[in-house]
Amino acid sequence: MSSIRDKVRSIPGYPKPGIVFRDITTLLGDAQGFRKAVDELVQPHAGRRIDKVAGIEARGFILGGAVAHQLSVGFVPVRKKGKLPFTVIGADYELEYGVDRVEIHTDAIQKGDRVLLIDDLIATGGTAGAAIRLIEMAGGVVAGCSFVIDLPEIGGRAKLEAAGYPCHTLVAFEGH
Ligand code: AMP
Repeated sequence: MSSIRDKVRSIPGYPKPGIVFRDITTLLGDAQGFRKAVDELVQPHAGRRIDKVAGIEARGFILGGAVAHQLSVGFVPVRKKGKLPFTVIGADYELEYGVDRVEIHTDAIQKGDRVLLIDDLIATGGTAGAAIRLIEMAGGVVAGCSFVIDLPEIGGRAKLEAAGYPCHTLVAFEGH
């Protein structure tokens, strides 16, 4: 069986020159690859107390939903600004040009909930950092942060770990 790494499609120059887009649709579309990725995201947390899985829009929904199902816990969508219908709390994060914002519903996480954060990829860690702030603003405790792909040269994972948030990634790619 080929590895998770082999099932990620790399697209140089997307969405702009200098970036290699790591496309997980090829991994998700492969029955064995999808299962293996979800199993490996779940494995470190099996038998630990996790109360909720939070997934970051949009690819984090697909992976996080499957992880939540496997851990038999609820799922919290971390959405881009303006998408959630009920009252929200939000956190801003820096982009290369400007800022963006992620939001969760005010009642999505209960005080003391141990929350596992999931996304497809960590680069600068800006998006995950904002999601962590939301989880903590809601009274939750970040039990861990898991990503299929790490871009270690950009340093987001190291930054989160230095701040005390344990991270788990399945494969690493060089570059940006
Ligand atoms: P960051 O906030 O810099 O850690 O960026 C992480 C978010 O941006 C994730 O939700 C990724 O889906 C997306 N992302 C950043 N860089 C890439 C890349 N090279 N390929 C695919 N997705 C990326």
